[in-house]
Amino acid sequence: MTERNVIPLADHRYAARVPRVPLGAPEPNGLLGDTLGRPLRDLRISVTDRCNFRCSYCMPKEVFDKQYAFLPHSSLLSFEEITRTARLFVAHGVRKIRLTGGEPLLRKNLEVLVGMLAALRTPDGAPLDLTLTTNGSVLARKAQALKDAGLQRVTVSLDALDDAIFRRMNDADFPVHEVLEGLEAAQRVGLGPIKVNMVVKRGTNDDQILPMARHFKGTGVVLRFIEYMDVGATNGWRMDEVLPSAQVVERIHAKLPLEAAQATVLGETAERWRYADGGGEIGVISSVTQAFCADCNRARLSTEGKLFLCLFASQGHDLRALLRGDYTDAQIAAAIGLIWQQRDDRYSELRSAGGAPTGDGGERRVEMHYIGG
Ligand code: SAM
Ligand code: SF4
Ligand code: SF4
Repeated sequence: MTERNVIPLADHRYAARVPRVPLGAPEPNGLLGDTLGRPLRDLRISVTDRCNFRCSYCMPKEVFDKQYAFLPHSSLLSFEEITRTARLFVAHGVRKIRLTGGEPLLRKNLEVLVGMLAALRTPDGAPLDLTLTTNGSVLARKAQALKDAGLQRVTVSLDALDDAIFRRMNDADFPVHEVLEGLEAAQRVGLGPIKVNMVVKRGTNDDQILPMARHFKGTGVVLRFIEYMDVGATNGWRMDEVLPSAQVVERIHAKLPLEAAQATVLGETAERWRYADGGGEIGVISSVTQAFCADCNRARLSTEGKLFLCLFASQGHDLRALLRGDYTDAQIAAAIGLIWQQRDDRYSELRSAGGAPTGDGGERRVEMHYIGG
């Protein structure tokens, strides 16, 4: 096991303001824009801050140990609170909802929430694009129930095919074959098109890039390589452990020729590449080497109902205070509208320009397991 540069974390709560409820705000019309003109289209909802893995880039074991105080159940938004919030975001223009965590499939009866969210409709009467990101550990057991409840597709995180490397990456000694079984179950019940996310850490799992590409080529599964990001404050991130996506593409292209493919949706985070022989496509997500803030239309709702406007934010907006206060839907929708209109986050762009903020007033940046990917 390599030595780790892990930063201890004494308290896991993050700064959050109670949002202002503006008077006389117009009804949501889906045309909301932030200070950079970016619309609100994508909502990621973290349903638990707990996880059965301890991926070193997300929840290093040394910090998230037996002593670590996860959120008590009473802090979590209930399914009703989540659905109410989601409905207000949909009125403001959200078309895609992704459930995440922590490990979302550890939240009890998650399929009940899926059913409630699947029943939501856009103002035009269309269903939402409803998806979930999971480490796949219990997917084999849950795939059918999720599908039956109305989930459309899943993204499965998988960092290696080699069992020893995978066990090291998840740091919970979890065998890779169980995740692969989960993937197969998801495919079998029709939770597709399935995406697989691989976080690449130079020197740790970069020798898995080609085996992963070969394994998923021609299967209909879209493999996406994610640059290891400096999220949170506990993973001891170092730039020399980032393998730029350009090099991932080069390595694959040398063995399995690729050609660039067009982006399909505005705000899409992945750059798409097609196998020249028609064997499907891969994606690369270059959050570190190529900022994509200009199109970022994502909001994130934490497990305890704090709204974050950027993955790298240190300050949230405490929507739960409104949900559990005496406020109407119209008032909460107005508060959300005002928050989005004032949004100016573009951390990755500032980082690329060498001017990334380290946190307003010394507050700690939010952790990935708390806010979701
Ligand atoms: N537990 C679920 C999973 O792993 O899929 C959902 C939550 S996890 C926080 C969401 C995504 O964030 C995963 O694909 C994970 O690999 C990614 N992630 C976590 N920490 C990261 C980091 N430091 N850099 C890049 N991606 C990261
Ligand atoms: Fe758990 Fe997902 Fe974080 Fe890994 S990346 S520790 S599976 S929440
Ligand atoms: Fe969006 Fe923040 Fe990531 Fe930029 S750094 S793409 S604003 S989440």
